[in-house]
Amino acid sequence: MLKQLTSLAFLLSSGLAHATVDYHIDLSTPQHHLGKVTMILPSGDTQATVMMPVWRTGKYKILNLANGVREFEAQDSNGRGLTWQHNDKSSWQISNPSGGEVTISYKIYANQLGSRTRHIDDSHAFLDATGVFMYDPTRRDEDISVKLSVPNTWKSFSGMEKKSAHHFVADNYDILADSPIETGINQDYSFSHDGKDYQLVIWGEGNYDAEKMAKDLEKLVATSQNTWQGYPFDKYVFMVHATSDVRGATEHINSTIIQRKRFSFTPGKEYLSFLGTAAHEFVHTWNVKAYRPDGIATYDYQKENYSDLLWISEGSTSYFQNHLLLQAGLMKEKEFFKSLAKRIDSHLKKPGRLEQSVNASSHESWIAMSGDFATNHSVGIYSEGFMASLALDFQMLEDSKLVAGYTELHGELYKQHLLPKPFNSDDVKRLAKSLTGKDYNNWWRDNVEAPLVIDFKTLLSKAGLVYGYPKKAKDIPETGFSSREKNGLVTLTRVRKDSEAWAAGLNVGDQLMAINGQRVTKSRLPTVLKQHKVGDTVTLSLFRRDRLVEKTLILAKQKDKKPFVKPVKTPSAEQKAFFKAWLGIDFPSKEKKDDNKELSDEE
Ligand SMILES: [Zn+2]
Repeated sequence: MLKQLTSLAFLLSSGLAHATVDYHIDLSTPQHHLGKVTMILPSGDTQATVMMPVWRTGKYKILNLANGVREFEAQDSNGRGLTWQHNDKSSWQISNPSGGEVTISYKIYANQLGSRTRHIDDSHAFLDATGVFMYDPTRRDEDISVKLSVPNTWKSFSGMEKKSAHHFVADNYDILADSPIETGINQDYSFSHDGKDYQLVIWGEGNYDAEKMAKDLEKLVATSQNTWQGYPFDKYVFMVHATSDVRGATEHINSTIIQRKRFSFTPGKEYLSFLGTAAHEFVHTWNVKAYRPDGIATYDYQKENYSDLLWISEGSTSYFQNHLLLQAGLMKEKEFFKSLAKRIDSHLKKPGRLEQSVNASSHESWIAMSGDFATNHSVGIYSEGFMASLALDFQMLEDSKLVAGYTELHGELYKQHLLPKPFNSDDVKRLAKSLTGKDYNNWWRDNVEAPLVIDFKTLLSKAGLVYGYPKKAKDIPETGFSSREKNGLVTLTRVRKDSEAWAAGLNVGDQLMAINGQRVTKSRLPTVLKQHKVGDTVTLSLFRRDRLVEKTLILAKQKDKKPFVKPVKTPSAEQKAFFKAWLGIDFPSKEKKDDNKELSDEE
């Protein structure tokens, strides 16, 4: 017995077997957005380094998460203070002469709700570990344990294994970093499907119907096996923040955090948008969490992790989200077509699509700008990645004579490239070839490595669909700029490249005062424009950095109605078969086509 104890003590002190890094966060006074973190490193070296990540998973941007740390301290196992240095912005080096256990403590300021990194207030805490818990890079593979001290009324949730009400454990820091904790005053629901357990946790009041939400999420999760065979999780947690001023969502290994404005869960269009987000994040559980491109397979938390294939991780996820909703019966065909038409319209109106490839956009993700430059000179990994996925899906379906498409390719990525085995461009091309028998090198060069150009008429006709404007749509004057009201003034927010506004030399930030001497406001702008015809030349009076300038603009034309995607009246057997192979549902029947009437009353 004594011998056993001795050997156990040796194993523990040498840190060889199942060493555990213990974390504790004290949230007992959460009202000032502060938590007190304690981290215990097992015995080890005489020097220890702990780091805070500079980015968090799911958002490919440098966030410098060490910026909320205060009162850093380190002690040895006897409670004696250890000397340390704050080496660079994100790392602390501790001198530990005895090599024994080290207790590190610090305060963390958490008031970044919208960034989905860390938020602590008197009603809850959302803790993404990358913004809260430091790590010792030499101990990333060791077990972790997280205990929380929280107010009595709070409940805690995470994708991690739960040991008790406020205690979670995981096999390593990477799981902790990708398993945020939601703790607070919240509602929770649970359901099971196909042997897997699901939880829905909602923080905040809002106009949602939580029970319906849980039922619909159950329908959603039931569709996953149409694409992937198997699950990378035993339990999955949908976390929802119904709050103010923020929206967005982030995927994690076996959980997601979805933020929405509290009164944006109805009407139906808004609810469908929530379900779309939930579907997107759920797709990520496979695409980017279970299989990942080279470059982001093992996260380096201290710098940018480059990949040319983020368009697959994000764009393909956007592409598949509506497929899941359709198959789950949560989205009607007409809603699917409407969403597709909107995406095509916005793609065609984005001048940057002719300047940047999805490949380059992926690589540049870490430094991507928003605003004017993004629209005119860039494409996004989400929207353009969606289009590249659509194009590849149709190409594969055609090449394989409907045997396999992009869905099957993702099924194979899951089968053949489960982490830690990443995939690269050659792997995707190899899989496409193995599924279709065709070589994809030229296709890849022309559509992924070069700006993507799609002939939507030809493409959609394969599935028996048409894209166009209603016959009743009329040409009305267009300026080429977008604007919003700021301090009562019409302020330009976009000037589309190669538009008439571009030719006139208008700039983002210009404040439009009058057109041909007629005062304009945001609400009056359409009325003033209606007084003119397409082709008219008008004089704009603008303030540019507080100086009055005049510019001459020729009015171009645009349609007064939105474009549609809809099924043809008499589809061929080939078109019907293509549609079924593409979406996994039947071509819309006559009755359903009538349902699509509101998109257009012609054709
Ligand atoms: Zn995403």
